[in-house]
Amino acid sequence: MKMTRRSFLKLSAATGATAAAMGSCLYINPDPALAESTSPEEVKYTHCVQCNHGPRCGMKCIVKDGKVVRIEKRENYPNVNICAKGVSAVQEMYDPQRLLHPMKRTNPKGEPGQWEQITWEEALATIAEKLNGIKEKYGAEKVLFSTGDPKEPRSAVQRLAFTFGSPNMGTESSTCYKATELSQKLIYGPEWFTAKSFATGTNPVAGKTRCCIIWGNNPAWSGPAGWNGLLNNKAGGGKFIVVDPRKTPTAECIADVHLQIRPGTDGALALCFGNAIIESGNYDKEFVEKWCHGFEEYKEYVKAFTLEKTAEICQIPMDKLQAAVKLLTEGTGPVVHKSAAAFPHHTNGVNNYRAISLLLPLTGGVDVPGGVSIADEPLCFDEWQMTFDFARSSDLLPKLDHLRVDRPYFPVWADTDQQGSVQLNRLPEYVETGAIRAAVMFGQNSMMWPQTKQYQEAFKKMEFCVAADFYNNKWTHDYVDMILPAAMSFERSCPITVFGRRIFLREPIVKPQGEARPDYRIACDIGVALGFKDEFWGGGEESEINCIRESLRTLNSPTPITYEELKAAGKDGITIPMKGEKQTKKYELGLLRPDGQPGFTTPTGKVEFVSETLKKYGFDGLPVWNEPVQSPVATPDVAADYPLILNTGSRVPMFTHSKQRHVPWLRALMPDPIVRIYPSDAEARGIAQGDWVYVSTQLGEIKARADVTRMVKPGCMDMFHGWSQANVNELVSRDFDPISGFPPYKEGLCQIRKAEA
Ligand code: SF4
Repeated sequence: MKMTRRSFLKLSAATGATAAAMGSCLYINPDPALAESTSPEEVKYTHCVQCNHGPRCGMKCIVKDGKVVRIEKRENYPNVNICAKGVSAVQEMYDPQRLLHPMKRTNPKGEPGQWEQITWEEALATIAEKLNGIKEKYGAEKVLFSTGDPKEPRSAVQRLAFTFGSPNMGTESSTCYKATELSQKLIYGPEWFTAKSFATGTNPVAGKTRCCIIWGNNPAWSGPAGWNGLLNNKAGGGKFIVVDPRKTPTAECIADVHLQIRPGTDGALALCFGNAIIESGNYDKEFVEKWCHGFEEYKEYVKAFTLEKTAEICQIPMDKLQAAVKLLTEGTGPVVHKSAAAFPHHTNGVNNYRAISLLLPLTGGVDVPGGVSIADEPLCFDEWQMTFDFARSSDLLPKLDHLRVDRPYFPVWADTDQQGSVQLNRLPEYVETGAIRAAVMFGQNSMMWPQTKQYQEAFKKMEFCVAADFYNNKWTHDYVDMILPAAMSFERSCPITVFGRRIFLREPIVKPQGEARPDYRIACDIGVALGFKDEFWGGGEESEINCIRESLRTLNSPTPITYEELKAAGKDGITIPMKGEKQTKKYELGLLRPDGQPGFTTPTGKVEFVSETLKKYGFDGLPVWNEPVQSPVATPDVAADYPLILNTGSRVPMFTHSKQRHVPWLRALMPDPIVRIYPSDAEARGIAQGDWVYVSTQLGEIKARADVTRMVKPGCMDMFHGWSQANVNELVSRDFDPISGFPPYKEGLCQIRKAEA
């Protein structure tokens, strides 16, 4: 079966899923030369990272004449649900627009880039001269290192930054995921492996979980690997509340009760749920009494969030709220939630998320069946990165910590981050004050930030800025001095693939196109050029293998694993054994704290309903709810001109953030930027389906096509981000959550009007 554009569209139209529809063969290269070639075929195994690493759906690739000719389902692998983005990865790899050579700018930054191709030798020599010059003159910490999409180079770039002498390494998690992790750290303690187990929630267990709240998350589109499990749970009698202002496929398929909440009021709803559960008496009194700190204060605070008051704040019909409360207060077992990495995109984001997360300990769900499982003997590396020792976050970072650029702005973030990931969202201020003077960026994207132009200006003002990427993206690279071609997923092998305790070597299945190099090699080559030959094993073609060797050498496995053993294990991988048995309630056994004492790693040693860490930095310790900084309630004067609530950043099945717009198969699924608007709101503005419209806030205006749909709540809009011609983040303010520094992508006020034809 040949994959044509037409057949691809037909198969991908609804959800982006293709695997089931096509049997085991997912892709056939349309190049006629390959079809006619009589060269032998090789079978290679890899995984997809098109949605930025997780869930790493497995792929069996057939390679002929050095090109991928076919993709089939990978057997005996944890995830095999290849979606439209996954299949299209091959079309992207052979895209003639890819960046294939190092390039240096020949005109001033800020103007449309004019580029001259240079050798890798010249590129590395220039980088070394510029960075070492800044280090000598101002200090190594003035150089920022960062990664975006893909996440995979994080560990290599951390090693590079810390070896160079700068603690200032940041990631795209400055606007994604990290605030959920931070919220859990404030509740359970800063040991990252503890929080990691349940940062964005957990799956319900049939017969053991009371109810699962899917909160601001649409796994039917954004989490295909876990979606089937939720559907199976539903089929087995599981109860689901979906809290989302949008009528998503998830809400339509799985919700017993769907609460179409007013954006930004989630914290109030969660506190109302807490109050209702306490008033019902159906909470885990023993766990709360023995293992929780600040419960009485929390109990008093939540009393104000009655059903009546909450229905009014959240704009939820009373009968629906009562139905949800019934599910939460009846039955046995814990209440769990599943939410999204981007959930805390509110000015009160961390506290909203803490309020939701506290429903789990309230109902006794910590490290028990039906609740959340904390990792047994957690590994010192995970699906995002190599070992901490490889990254040098264990030995070098603590010595550099006092030089962190984010500490004056976001002390709670800095205090609870052990991995070495500074909060980047004040980059314009870091550059303006001279705290940052140069940057080395891998997959960094200026559009990830609100008020994008301020970040573009920051890149421009730096004395030197180099970016490694797959493409020359004008919205970022028009503001940098040099761009380096990075190898794509099928062309590289780092980092090691991890699923729980099972690890796989991912070998490159084809050679990189042009002069592209794998990120780990680029980091090693830069390290060597900067003068750290031994720390980066001399760089060069063996870099990735040397990085894998070092990560395996520093792995906390009871039995050592070598590169050769992992390679020999091939597609089956190796399962890292445990020293002991699996345990529940590890807090009782002293298995969570470095000192071996029972309890958690918070300042009080308990689950903190009142955070002592927040109090230390002058914040209220309770998970307080505050109205969004800008909303129809907080700023009615603004709402008079901008009456619609802005909701951005929700996912679509065919694109990951700003990626893949140039992939023809995917672009055909959504050719133009789309803004969703409710029918009565559209009618009041004379807008019909497919009309071009202007979306504006006090901060600017963009043009998009109207999708008139009941998917959104009346009075709200919804727009996907990452369109360079209609960057909705330009409309979002820099009113950061003071605890996490996260931007308010899911609140604010806007207006939509019909554009001239
Ligand atoms: S869900 Fe799709 S994009 Fe994500 S890893 Fe799987 S195939 Fe790739």
